[in-house]
Amino acid sequence: MGLHAAPIDLSTTYPSSDSRAEAARIDQFAATGELPEGSPVYARLDNPTTARFETALARLEGTESAVSFASGMAALSAVLLVRASLGLRHVVAVRPLYGCSDHLLTAGLLGTEVTWTDPAGVADAIRPDTGLVMVETPANPTLAEVDIRAIAHACGSVPLLVDNTFATPVLQRPVESGARIVLHSATKYLGGHGDVIAGVVACDKEFAGALRQVRFATGGLLHPLAGYLLLRGLSTLPVRVRAASATAAELAQRLAADPRVARVHYPKLGGAMVAFEVHGDPHAVISGVRLITPAVSLGSVDTLIQHPASISHRIVEEGDRRSAGVSDRLLRMSVGLEDVEDLWRDLSEALSAPSAGTARTADATVPAPSVAAQ
Ligand SMILES: *Cc1c(COP(=O)(O)O)cnc(C)c1O
Repeated sequence: MGLHAAPIDLSTTYPSSDSRAEAARIDQFAATGELPEGSPVYARLDNPTTARFETALARLEGTESAVSFASGMAALSAVLLVRASLGLRHVVAVRPLYGCSDHLLTAGLLGTEVTWTDPAGVADAIRPDTGLVMVETPANPTLAEVDIRAIAHACGSVPLLVDNTFATPVLQRPVESGARIVLHSATKYLGGHGDVIAGVVACDKEFAGALRQVRFATGGLLHPLAGYLLLRGLSTLPVRVRAASATAAELAQRLAADPRVARVHYPKLGGAMVAFEVHGDPHAVISGVRLITPAVSLGSVDTLIQHPASISHRIVEEGDRRSAGVSDRLLRMSVGLEDVEDLWRDLSEALSAPSAGTARTADATVPAPSVAAQ
């Protein structure tokens, strides 16, 4: 019999009366990182619910395997540890990256060393001990895009990791352009409803084995309930991404035509993220929205707006932030599934807040409609 909804397996351990056979299964995992046939020995090796999510994501990204983690940061940490365990501690990375990814590399918390470069400088930055090249495209928060194929070429034999969180496999499949490793903060579009923190790495079988071994040793695994929510999220991923992208493209166009807005960033690839710089005070826009939720994170069914210099990229040193194009006037908006006219009205009113745009208009003195706190 088949199943309609995915079952949730919460067991932490799996009984076996044959400990000789268990020893052989554990040896196999230790040698290859491949999961033994049959039931998992212990949930830190494998879980049927999270494995279903991994299989689905690997198919979406067009990779042999995928390995899930407790968060996007746990996923990135595992990738760095796999490479560092081979003595390949040097990372070449292109800014901007998500603020905490930038921080993890810059601080060298996992014993890695980073060289920051622009896309044209990747080939020259590679050293004999380089274990990874890392890019985000479109990047958080400026939505800057890089040519994955050109970077993959510059990498030679060094694996290229593309953080595909913003594009999702609906809009972009980096392995088709030469990336070896695809990372997602599954917290964002894959989950899609703002209620699960998760990470996943899509890659070939061999790298997946090494990731599972690191995950087994360090324990940053995805909970089965989160695996279930992610599977549910995946079932609507294409519909959500396409609908939100159409709204985002329309809002980007209206913002670009608005004199209160200095600059709009919207990817050629499309997508549901829009970034824009205001002439006035960006904090006034954040405090002015009523329908849009002023909060960090992204990729949910509802629209969120935040000020990267204060929140998502606060941890990046000011000079590094600015040189990566993250201006103090930049706002990052994750567009959800609300009606485009409702969103535009809210945004337009927030832009009219005192000091948000160029000049205070007569309309701005009208009190905002009272809406229950978001
Ligand atoms: C949020 C985010 C991360 C980190 O993911 P968590 O799930 O919050 O740990 C990594 N990369 C990008 C692009 C992100 O937006």
